[in-house]
Amino acid sequence: MKIGVLALQGDFREHLLAAKQAGHAGLTVRRSEELAEVDALILPGGESTTIAQLARTFDLFTDIKKRIAEGMPVYGSCAGMILLADRIVDGALGQETFGGIDMTVRRNAFGRQVDSFESDLNFNGTEMHAVFIRAPWVEELSSSVQVLSDVIAADGKRHPVAVRQGALFATSFHPELTTDLRVHRYFFDQVCAGAIK
Ligand code: GLN
Repeated sequence: MKIGVLALQGDFREHLLAAKQAGHAGLTVRRSEELAEVDALILPGGESTTIAQLARTFDLFTDIKKRIAEGMPVYGSCAGMILLADRIVDGALGQETFGGIDMTVRRNAFGRQVDSFESDLNFNGTEMHAVFIRAPWVEELSSSVQVLSDVIAADGKRHPVAVRQGALFATSFHPELTTDLRVHRYFFDQVCAGAIK
């Protein structure tokens, strides 16, 4: 499989490395010709407003939306999760997303003063250590969205931090910043394998 990583801003290098370590060709995507070459796409962590604006500047925005509508598998981590959400709370004025997952995501949900933290959580039935950096959570979601992981936040409530809707998959946390490949392997083996003929 040719796994594209949107390489406009953010931690795309770490995702490229994870793809390679999991045995897939990881390709940077900055132009629509490069997008056309890949079977699946990863939207990295970073700054969702900047990534969306650069996608407009690089004439990629409409093409990414089109590939999502056509069923291309996409994995978004953190800012990438925001970019896959149909709706955002606490977004910047006029902030755009590619959308595709029928959910509302709250940006910087865990509190601005709690910039980053690490937590053990259960992802799709297995325990793992997760890194959160100014992370979003899923505030509201349709019944067609599957929750793969959630955490109890400071408000005492459970909030989804990993979700899937068909070929689209998103995590609030950053597996690309750890050496644990299980989340990437879930995307490649469970999400992409079913969607790519
Ligand atoms: N808070 C960032 C945003 O809104 C996401 C942070 C991250 O990707 N680590 O885009």
